[in-house]
Amino acid sequence: MAVWMGSPNYNAGRNGSGVDRIVIHYIVGTLAAADATFADAASQVSAHYGIGEGAVHQYVSEADTAWHAGDLAMNRRSIGIEHSADQSRPPEASTYAASVELCARICRDYGLDPRTQIVGHSDVVSTSCPGTVDLQRIIDETAAAI
Ligand SMILES: [Zn+2]
Repeated sequence: MAVWMGSPNYNAGRNGSGVDRIVIHYIVGTLAAADATFADAASQVSAHYGIGEGAVHQYVSEADTAWHAGDLAMNRRSIGIEHSADQSRPPEASTYAASVELCARICRDYGLDPRTQIVGHSDVVSTSCPGTVDLQRIIDETAAAI
């Protein structure tokens, strides 16, 4: 379902950590903006997935460590998902639907409980991210889907 885009910004492997969190982000822009940022080695940021405008893009393998949470230990134990949205534009319904489908698949694969193991970026470090993304909606709809 996801289209592979790739990114130079990741660490191979997870230094022995398993995946026990999904970290939710907003792009503060469109999916095309995430594509450009994550393709740029100078940006030093990435995520595993980005969702928006009817598409799901993958930048980093789930087996590898993406650079999205601002915390190395959390990066090693999490899958980061970016959502097309900004301060005045919440995600579209299609973005939520694709996010819930992806989160449900990840929760099934890794045995995660959406109610405790899907978190917002601001739960990890002090940040305005995930902004206009309704984190509780993603948690509730994922819990209902698995
Ligand atoms: Zn974020």
